[in-house]
Amino acid sequence: VPRFADKVALVTGAGSGIGRATAIAFAKEGASVVLIDLARDGLDETRSLVEQANGSALALSADVTDEDAVQAAFAQAVAWKGAIHCAFNNAGITHATVDTADIPKSEFERVLKVNVLGVWLCMREELRHMIPRASGVIVNTGSVMSTHSCVTQGGYVASKAAVFGMTKNAAVEYGATGVRINAVAPGGIRTAMMSGIFENLTEEQRDQSVQQIADIHPMKRTGRPEEIADGVLFLCSDQATFITGAMLAVDGGWSAL
Ligand code: NAD
Repeated sequence: VPRFADKVALVTGAGSGIGRATAIAFAKEGASVVLIDLARDGLDETRSLVEQANGSALALSADVTDEDAVQAAFAQAVAWKGAIHCAFNNAGITHATVDTADIPKSEFERVLKVNVLGVWLCMREELRHMIPRASGVIVNTGSVMSTHSCVTQGGYVASKAAVFGMTKNAAVEYGATGVRINAVAPGGIRTAMMSGIFENLTEEQRDQSVQQIADIHPMKRTGRPEEIADGVLFLCSDQATFITGAMLAVDGGWSAL
């Protein structure tokens, strides 16, 4: 029997990168997947990839920072198969590479809004659904930057530290309810987010930057979105029934530095 047979898994930021890889991984292991993203094109692409893997997907376009949109999407998601068993709150953004004293207020707010408020709004709906059912698993996307500094990413680092804080707090509050809440902490993963950081570079500069990021990791490479998906599925699975309030590093050793 596949690990997630008869389960419904909800993924935000499912239109790209880590969210897409995780949605496909859930589908390959038997789950029906609810895909949430701002980007309609990305959502459609992920849905067709899930269907190619013989999975079934409900694609909902919503902004995770919009309370009404999040509540409407969750109502639709729950109505689809009657329940949500696993939720991966993964939609997130970075800001331009600038030191703390030079971050525009609007950029700081934008990153905090998506990465912190967005995760919390989704988690709140998930908790309200899962607590009365006395079961369910939530995974939030932290980062190696939930615990480590990153020069020129002060706003992002603040937001990811908050994700770890929210995760631990909810895990403690709801520890006795049967709902588990954890985070996954990726290292440098080759996705659109990483490419975005190199937007204004020449190809040569970009290759150099990718190599520099790879070299930070003790394993001397960047990670693949599928490697994060493996960690998320583990946390959601029955192999992790005594794990709550944890942040699982999937980072080629970066957080050990
Ligand atoms: P990505 O840019 O490929 O995907 C992010 C997705 O989130 C996009 O499809 C985007 O449309 C969606 N999104 C953004 N804002 C949204 C909003 N307001 N509402 C709904 N959807 C929204 O990036 P990724 O690398 O796959 O990142 C996924 C998560 O992993 C993020 O939380 C990111 O911070 C985290 N992360 C990434 C890395 C990395 O190196 N790529 C490392 C650590 C953590």
